[in-house]
Amino acid sequence: MSIAEMEIKKFENGNCAENKVFYQAMEEVIYSIAPLLESDDKYRRHAILERLVVPDRIIKFKVTWLDDNNEIQVNTGYRVQFNNALGPYKGGLRFHPTVNEGILKFLGFEQILKNALTGLPIGGAKGGSDFDPKGKSDFEVMKFCSAFMTELHKYIGPRIDVPAGDIGVGSREIGYLFGEYKKITSTYEGVLTGKPYMFGGSLMRPEATGYGAVYFTEKMLEIEGQETLKGKICTVSGAGNVALHAIEKLQEIGAIPVTCTDSRGMIYDSRGVDLALLKDIKLDKRLSLEEYIKSHSEAQYIPVEEYTEGTHAVWDIPCYAAFPCATQNELNERDAQNLITNGCISVTEGANMPSTPEATDLFLSHKICFGPAKAANAGGVAVSEFEMSQNASMTKWTFERVDETLKATMQQICTRVALTAKDYGVEGNYVDGANIAGFKKVADAMIAEGI
Ligand code: NAP
Repeated sequence: MSIAEMEIKKFENGNCAENKVFYQAMEEVIYSIAPLLESDDKYRRHAILERLVVPDRIIKFKVTWLDDNNEIQVNTGYRVQFNNALGPYKGGLRFHPTVNEGILKFLGFEQILKNALTGLPIGGAKGGSDFDPKGKSDFEVMKFCSAFMTELHKYIGPRIDVPAGDIGVGSREIGYLFGEYKKITSTYEGVLTGKPYMFGGSLMRPEATGYGAVYFTEKMLEIEGQETLKGKICTVSGAGNVALHAIEKLQEIGAIPVTCTDSRGMIYDSRGVDLALLKDIKLDKRLSLEEYIKSHSEAQYIPVEEYTEGTHAVWDIPCYAAFPCATQNELNERDAQNLITNGCISVTEGANMPSTPEATDLFLSHKICFGPAKAANAGGVAVSEFEMSQNASMTKWTFERVDETLKATMQQICTRVALTAKDYGVEGNYVDGANIAGFKKVADAMIAEGI
């Protein structure tokens, strides 16, 4: 039995249906770090894995709120404070009906290593609720956010735990959450990031994850000796914060993003997607992507029901580089095979763990340039940390300063990951490089801090 298999076996008792994605993330990390465990037994002597895979605490609470018909609604809220070896707990809040403890443990675990890779002083956490903002009025979202914060405020603080946004939590929700925190505590402090600019938000926070993923890709292509993205066809999934800003940056650098998706279907516009229209449909009006073809009849809309069974239509479109930016496990082995067959040479994960393990293995075995989420989408949390710094020092950075620092951070992450992979004999494998570099940083801090 290999060292990785032995380590994984230790945790098999908790591998239930709810924990499926958490185990998927954990097993990937354990396989990656096996060479590190072999070469230095201090990590096993200090039981780092046993300590790292268990959150410091999981806070679970009831959220009761009144809808527009004055009927009482009940949801469940969570905050998984995973690890603060490197700094205050930090990670987003997700509001989506699929949210449960297992999904938040997966996201929180990934966040520990992602935050470590940024080189910034932040620990890992994640939270959220099974509340679905879709179809709710602004007033209902506000009432839910107030009720959620009534409980959450007890556990967070600018030096304790600083939540941010994620799926279903954008600047509107962060604004309501911040307003309630301020009301309850009578303090005006940087307890949340992703705030609107007018009350403490950082310029470029909304753009950061999508832009960062593109900066990471440019560096990865340079290191791997591949052609740049300029003039190349790119496919993107998602039509939310990450996807729209990845599309924006791709267009800015002269690439041609031709797709986007939401939970109901996909748009393929071979001339390049119309970003202004997309922002109007998805960000401003919160409508279905189907609206797009009312303005562009030459584009193609494919609803989910018409996808070939077992595949996602977006990964059928030939491209040079693909950017999965919607959600976990949205790109499977067959999708990966379709991308490779159609000539794709680069895949960058804007979403968290969008590729299944089988898809990832296929990309790696075909020597596709593969930027894993915990490295490639770290731009969002990096700019969140810049927001924390600005709040703490009561200053405001210019757009140019944030953008330059973000770009430098993404390039440093990419270079560190590539060098780590080389050091451990897996050159070109950014999955192993990211897992080893992130794990080592957190583990060394945990050892230095004692038990
Ligand atoms: P968002 O603004 O809420 O957008 C999510 C997009 O994905 C929407 O287009 C949504 O479709 C689609 N989607 C969500 N769940 C889906 C599902 N189960 N099946 C198909 N489509 C689905 O969220 P986001 O902030 O862009 O986050 C996207 C991903 O990036 C997530 O994995 C998140 O954890 C990760 N991420 C985000 C940040 C950040 O800064 N926001 C940072 C790092 C990582 P509908 O419009 O139909 O709902």
